[in-house]
Amino acid sequence: MSEAELLFSEVAQYLRPEDVAQLKVAYSFGQGAHSGQFRKSGEPYISHPLAVARILGGLHLDAPTLTAALLHDVVEDTHISKEEISERFGNPVAELVDGVSKLDKIQFQTQEDAQAENFRKMLLAMARDVRVILIKLADRLHNMQTLEAMPAEKQRRISRETLEIYAPIALRLGLNNIYQELQELGFRYSYPLRYRVLIKATKAARGNRREVVGKIQDAITNKLKEAGLDFQVSGREKHIYSIYRKMVEKQLSFSEVLDIYGFRVIVNDIPSCYVALGALHALYKPIPGKFKDYIAIPKENGYQSLHSTLLGPFNIPIEIQIRTQEMHRIAEDGVASHWIYKSSDANLNDLHMKTSQWLQSLLEMLSDTSDSLEFLEHLKVDLFPGDVYVFTPQGRIMTLPRGSTAVDFAYAIHSDIGNCCVAVKINGENAPLRSELKNGDRVEIITAPYAKPNPSWLGYVTTGRARSHIRHFLRTIQYEESVELGERMLNQALAALNIESSLISEAQWEKLVRDIGAKSRKALLADMALGKQLPAVIAKRLASPRESEESKHVSSEPITILGTEGLTVQFAKCCHPIPGDIILGLIKKEQGLVIHMNNCPIIAQNKKNAENYLDVAWGKDITRTFEVKLRIVAVNRHGVLARIAAAIAKTESNIDDVDMESEKDYTAMSFVLQVRNRYHLAQVIRNLRRIKEVARITRI
Ligand code: MN
Repeated sequence: MSEAELLFSEVAQYLRPEDVAQLKVAYSFGQGAHSGQFRKSGEPYISHPLAVARILGGLHLDAPTLTAALLHDVVEDTHISKEEISERFGNPVAELVDGVSKLDKIQFQTQEDAQAENFRKMLLAMARDVRVILIKLADRLHNMQTLEAMPAEKQRRISRETLEIYAPIALRLGLNNIYQELQELGFRYSYPLRYRVLIKATKAARGNRREVVGKIQDAITNKLKEAGLDFQVSGREKHIYSIYRKMVEKQLSFSEVLDIYGFRVIVNDIPSCYVALGALHALYKPIPGKFKDYIAIPKENGYQSLHSTLLGPFNIPIEIQIRTQEMHRIAEDGVASHWIYKSSDANLNDLHMKTSQWLQSLLEMLSDTSDSLEFLEHLKVDLFPGDVYVFTPQGRIMTLPRGSTAVDFAYAIHSDIGNCCVAVKINGENAPLRSELKNGDRVEIITAPYAKPNPSWLGYVTTGRARSHIRHFLRTIQYEESVELGERMLNQALAALNIESSLISEAQWEKLVRDIGAKSRKALLADMALGKQLPAVIAKRLASPRESEESKHVSSEPITILGTEGLTVQFAKCCHPIPGDIILGLIKKEQGLVIHMNNCPIIAQNKKNAENYLDVAWGKDITRTFEVKLRIVAVNRHGVLARIAAAIAKTESNIDDVDMESEKDYTAMSFVLQVRNRYHLAQVIRNLRRIKEVARITRI
């Protein structure tokens, strides 16, 4: 019989005749599409999809899965479109083929995080239809079975990927047979030398073992017969890869690993499991702490069995698994056993429901940080728990640390996107930039060409990347502002020496910058604004000695303060100067220029260091508002605060903050208000005095 005939006869045992007929049509269609294509081994290409379909047929999967398996490489490797498959074989088959093609496009890279990203894609695909994953696993299994034909380099890459990505997925889905085989083949091609050595050693050891295994198996058989059970018992051969892993992980020698004997007992029903357990515990002494009841508490992937380790003759450890036929099927084929073809549609739907519920719980487990550990154990990729996976508008997956916001996302795409972002749409809806992103969100950043980062973003970004970009941007802005102010400060200091700044030559500047050890003229100017260099000192060094001596007492124009100097000029929080007040500038180290009121106590404290003072004056036409603090004492009466607030609002001043202290008859209120200047403040105070409950108003 040909491979194709084998497939049709195998599936005829559980599929309806019309489904088998459709498979035959799909087979010839695939054969035609792939005609002229060959595998590395020299076989016609169709042999591969055929083998994949047979693997899935062995799991008794439904007709659409098998049809899609036969066609799984058609869209990717031939000119046939998804639409054509949909027309010929129906949309469910086309969707499955499309799903597999999409997985094929994912290139696993060596970097761990890229793998994590892709793995997530697989999970998302799986949530839609687990059959896509099953086809992909069968595809991978057959590719591994035929890996011999590939060049060594490719063998290594594909087998590592199999060990790191596909085998753990198979395990998670409970596909034990596929898992074992993927691991075995993955190990064989990843570590060819170790594999050969272990194969040889196992063969040699098997002779001695056979005798011991036979003896123990006889003892078990007799004991279970005594108990009146209907059962099958078999010795379990250890897989090469699991021997290897035990040697590495538990630091055991080859003979120590091999000295553990495994037996499996299969009985008819659950009560018999416990009867068999009792009988075997009576035969050999159980090792304390090794008994596990996975019947009462099944594993997450649905696995059920009783596990126990006994101490056999000559103190040989014996691992025992006891289970029913049904449990055995699930243990071997896992999720696929939920998918077994049933002709009754009601049953099918029920199974679909169960499977999708199971998948749902799997996905929930994956997103739940605390319970994912068991799964993590089997995954080399660092997926959880700290990450969140979101989509770009183009469907690319971005991995961000959990807690990341839309701003983090914007900077993760590109610093220019981050610097210019103004709004965000999450899953098509407008959302605040501070919104925390959730798994699976589709995030679209809206930018504006003249937008700038806001210092408040630093309060809610999570990624270092976003933080450093925002900081860098703010620093750059502040630097430009500082240079500008430094220049004005220097000009004033030069004027005090009767020197016109434009008369200072390039050479003089260069010499000064060199002498001081500054990076550049700009850097020196910025340092002055930031209080790291004193303008008076720099001015003197720029001036020739003769000139500076003569012009010591000539007064100069003060620096005008416009309120638009940005972060470079600060207004003192102690005295809250506003336009109209007489002011004085104080240059503070590392802080730059701070504007105080002339009569501020801080000024009096610093009088000694005259060089730190700067003559400043308010400019004309200042448009911004300034903070001012007012203390208002009012008689306690209903509605007083409301009347005060209304009076303030009437003068177009904003209240930033209010603080109240009530005594028996009076309330003292501290307001932080925004006013344009002294005139504006006077208006506010005038309005407040009209309220008869207000007893006293003082500016702090
Ligand atoms: Mn394939």
